[in-house]
Amino acid sequence: MILNPIPWPNGATCACAITFDMDADSLIHVARPQDSHQRLYPISMGRYGPTVAIPRILETYQRLGLKQSFFVPGWCLETYPDAVEAILKDGHEIGHHGWIHEDPIVTLGNQRAPFERALRAHEKICGKQPRGYRAPVYNITPEVIDLLIEYGFDYDSSLMADDIPYRMQTDAGELYEMPVHWGTDDWPPFAHYDEIGYMMPVRAPSAGLAGFWEEFEAQYEAGGFFMLIVHPFLTGRLARWRLVEKWLEGILDSHDVWFAPLEDICEHVKSVEETGGAQIRTEHLPYFDGPQK
Ligand SMILES: [Zn+2]
Repeated sequence: MILNPIPWPNGATCACAITFDMDADSLIHVARPQDSHQRLYPISMGRYGPTVAIPRILETYQRLGLKQSFFVPGWCLETYPDAVEAILKDGHEIGHHGWIHEDPIVTLGNQRAPFERALRAHEKICGKQPRGYRAPVYNITPEVIDLLIEYGFDYDSSLMADDIPYRMQTDAGELYEMPVHWGTDDWPPFAHYDEIGYMMPVRAPSAGLAGFWEEFEAQYEAGGFFMLIVHPFLTGRLARWRLVEKWLEGILDSHDVWFAPLEDICEHVKSVEETGGAQIRTEHLPYFDGPQK
């Protein structure tokens, strides 16, 4: 049960978003800056995303008539402009995902420069400012929240304080949160990446995805919000995407769901709130002014 459900457009039972973080090989360059260019295996693993998986994913979305959201580091926008152009041409959203996937905690106190550098890449490659942000490794900080408010972003999608969209309020302003969590992220079931300290046993496609579909059923039953946080180089691999594609076809046939980019879902939440159609919960930030002892 969800205490404050949000009514979805056209009476849909559940809002759904399959969001892809197109990190490509930024991960190895930020993890091993001294010699990443010598590490061909992780570069190739990341490049699979924009070169092989993105065309496959876009083909499915086009066939099924879906518009979705992609989060792309600024460095990847500049390095893989063909993939970016294809995503935009099909009408999908591209959100801010740092400059070169730098962890905001690691760069604490110095986030403005990479944040603004990524914004410039969005303007240059995408021709517009992004409306949404997702922190690399979800590690958003109060410093980044302030930058999002300063630059007029509509939403963040990095935090985990609710099942459905909620509002974050600071002294400087407010922002919607489109909440994530690890149960709907493909890193735990599918990532195996020694160089960045991530050594999960890789699950079979059906086993790895099964947890996602159970998460969907619970959100559907409660009239909630189901979002996947997945990566082209993991979930866009042949066998996994084949199963996601079959799941999408089945759900579109048998369920009453609203698939939309996060910017549209955010816009909808804002408008139902303004017309008194839903009570959106507020979290006040920062949670603490200093270390708790
Ligand atoms: Zn990422």
